[in-house]
Amino acid sequence: MAIQQKLSLMIPGPTPVPEKVLEALGRHPIGHRSKDFQDLVEITTKNLKWLHQTENDVLTITGSGTSAMEAGIISTLSKGDKVICGENGKFGQRWVKVAEEFGLEIIKIDAEWGTPLDPESFRAVLEKDYKKEIKAVILTHSETSTGVINDLKTISSHIRNHKKALSIIDCVTSIGACNVPVDEWELDIVASGSQKGYMIPPGLSFVSMSKKAWKASEDSNLPKFYLNLKSYKKSLSNNSNPYTPAVNLVFALDEALKMMQDEGLDSIFKRHEKHKLAVSAAAKTLNLKLFADEKHLSPSVTAIKIEDIDAEKFRKTIKNKYDILLAGGQDHLKGKIFRIGHLGYVNDRDIISVIAAIGNTLVEQDKVSTEQVGEALKIALFHLKVS
Ligand SMILES: *Cc1c(COP(=O)(O)O)cnc(C)c1O
Repeated sequence: MAIQQKLSLMIPGPTPVPEKVLEALGRHPIGHRSKDFQDLVEITTKNLKWLHQTENDVLTITGSGTSAMEAGIISTLSKGDKVICGENGKFGQRWVKVAEEFGLEIIKIDAEWGTPLDPESFRAVLEKDYKKEIKAVILTHSETSTGVINDLKTISSHIRNHKKALSIIDCVTSIGACNVPVDEWELDIVASGSQKGYMIPPGLSFVSMSKKAWKASEDSNLPKFYLNLKSYKKSLSNNSNPYTPAVNLVFALDEALKMMQDEGLDSIFKRHEKHKLAVSAAAKTLNLKLFADEKHLSPSVTAIKIEDIDAEKFRKTIKNKYDILLAGGQDHLKGKIFRIGHLGYVNDRDIISVIAAIGNTLVEQDKVSTEQVGEALKIALFHLKVS
């Protein structure tokens, strides 16, 4: 029986939380209209801009990642607006549902789950829109449900060429994991959430808004109140919030952003990249198949197809014996895949442990030899050596 207090979260959110951040959460709350809190908002906003590589406003919402995406959509669009929705997984599907719910007219560009969206399809549709009727392109950068990263750099260049359409991007598992240069790619609306690359518990989400997005917000007529980003912008000019924010999560955010600055953006991206390579190479050595197209692997999560074994039972064994929580498959993928999160506060030790735990479990089920587990660790160590 494992020691339940030492659970290692290897799921793509909630992710592990550093001690310093946990301590910040345990402090007494302070008044959210106090000068001390305003100072905190000022510094966290400045550091959020650093993380997003942008001069745009970055707003903090008390709510999970979905609230940030919904806020971006309803704060800038109007009923009946034509939008493109990219869909190649569970989260892409969610944004289609949100767009439907708010009465937007959707042009869906999809791809089979496990494969990336084709940037050419976006170019083709946007180029044909002579009348400039398309108001926004909504898509997910790192599709957490399948472990696929979409080519946002190329897709965003096609959106830019259209000139009228806003980009509304779910960067929930790419911000703080790989390069998302918001200004360089001219991304209009970028959403993310605290329980992912930020190393904080769930509860906060973030939206970056470009000048073009603010301009669009002037004409937006979709119903909104709590998630009206204009209220957040107005309060932010005074380093404040329109409603009571999750004060302690902001303490935590402050600590986490400082840790990220100490590590540096490049080092953070390199760490995620090497962990991705170590996990995917080790999995293949253990005769496991990657669910995602190998040229488009997400930096934050690796989805693994497991044949002849129920993925849910497999996950349970790893949890009970090694205290490592893996994620399952969603929807039709339940029982067919499991996912290894390597997002946020994850170090090389976590990667070595998860590979050894998976390898040993496969040995016990007579699926691989102990030599193969040795080989898997060897190839993982090769990738981890890169600094
Ligand atoms: C986790 C996640 C979200 C946000 O989900 P919430 O449960 O609302 O925080 C959105 N998109 C992706 C790709 C995610 O991984």
